[in-house]
Amino acid sequence: MSKKIVVLGAGTGGTIISNNLRRHLPDEWEITVIDRDNEHVYQPGMLFVPFDIQKVSTLTKPRKKYILPGVNFVIDEITRIDPEKREVKTNNQTFSYDFLVISTGCKIVPEENDGLMDAMGENAFTFYSLEGAELLRKKLKEFDGGKLVLNIAELPFKCPVAPIEFVFLADWYFKKRGIRNKVEIELVTPLNGAFTKPKASAVFGESAKEKNITITPKFELSEVNGKEKYIESIQGDRVTYDVLVSIPTTIGDEVISDSGIDDGIGYVPTHLNTLQALKHERIYVIGDATNVPTSKAGSVAHYEADVVVFNIMAEIHGIKPEEIYDGHSTCFIVYSKGTSSLIDFNYKIEPLPGKFPLPHMGPFSLLNETKANWYGKLGFEWLYWNVLLAGRHLGMPPTLVMAGKEVG
Ligand SMILES: Cc1cc2nc3c(=O)[nH]c(=O)nc-3n(C[C@H](O)[C@H](O)[C@H](O)COP(=O)(O)OP(=O)(O)OC[C@H]3O[C@@H](n4cnc5c(N)ncnc54)[C@H](O)[C@@H]3O)c2cc1C
Repeated sequence: MSKKIVVLGAGTGGTIISNNLRRHLPDEWEITVIDRDNEHVYQPGMLFVPFDIQKVSTLTKPRKKYILPGVNFVIDEITRIDPEKREVKTNNQTFSYDFLVISTGCKIVPEENDGLMDAMGENAFTFYSLEGAELLRKKLKEFDGGKLVLNIAELPFKCPVAPIEFVFLADWYFKKRGIRNKVEIELVTPLNGAFTKPKASAVFGESAKEKNITITPKFELSEVNGKEKYIESIQGDRVTYDVLVSIPTTIGDEVISDSGIDDGIGYVPTHLNTLQALKHERIYVIGDATNVPTSKAGSVAHYEADVVVFNIMAEIHGIKPEEIYDGHSTCFIVYSKGTSSLIDFNYKIEPLPGKFPLPHMGPFSLLNETKANWYGKLGFEWLYWNVLLAGRHLGMPPTLVMAGKEVG
């Protein structure tokens, strides 16, 4: 009998789960992980590049270095998933599987937003790619006043805290340069406020007000006009800008839609709690490739990987997968170079104040701007490369823990 697990995508989720599975399964189980290239990007670092806090050259490392020797790493373009035949095709090979894990993530498609590509590099930028983040760094360096607008084109998008972090950092950056009084900062979003969850959104909205940052909610982008420097909504509202920072439309990878297993925008319909593909047996989905209603964030991919390893092990032993995952997500929210907040929530429980991960003592404060949280955010990068990707555990369960949280 073949004993093969194939993992699609060797980004955050794919690397963690491949290594985690290798740690848990005997050698008779062959584990293969496939990605189109050998360049693993630490994506949270792209937020810091425009503000000269981090250099692009520090963000990419070889994927292979972070994949355990007992895992077969293949560099190839995945072109088709066939759930009936239990096969995956790449440009050069066909792989059969007993279990498949889809972790192909999501990507920005600026060409989907009318007018955006014409303005890109002139007065429109994005920090959601390495090249874009570097171009924006150069632009902000020479910017000596005017209106900076951050626009989220459409939902869903990756890392829902990144836009609010960007405008907070812009406030810090222009203060540091002594020109804050010459710069208007506006966040234009399709959401009802600064963030997806109402209570945290109110807290971030208050902080934005204190920093003299305008938030324009419920703005559904129709077009970018780079010549006249404005964005227009479907309802006909216009916001003018001097520099536009765009988070363009985001979709799942084409291989998901080309294989006919998507929800219409490239995400795999996924069971909220078992993380099984809803329509196909022996397929699990983690990270940004799922359609589950929690953040598209690295922390989510990490928590989900734990649950999927557990459920694949259960299936191997003939046991039904368990409905464990609760939408748990944990994110730092940088307020300035030197301070940060932190949120911890799941499908049902909104971010609450309190301490994390150690009840009552911290070290980190929830929904609160502190220096310790900033050091936590910085330290997280080391943890990412050296502990999390290796599929090691931090002694925390993948689901939300209420200890330390202030309820009511
Ligand atoms: C600016 C920014 C800041 C962020 N900040 C944070 C943060 O502070 N905290 C946090 O938790 N998260 C953050 N994130 C989000 C986080 O990086 C992602 O949610 C996380 O990487 C998702 O992991 P994933 O495995 O689902 O996808 P990815 O890590 O993107 O991996 C997907 C992989 O699949 C491969 N792939 C896709 N399709 C194919 C194909 N057809 N053939 C071959 N290979 C394929 C890709 O090459 C890629 O390597 C941030 C993201 C951005 C952009």
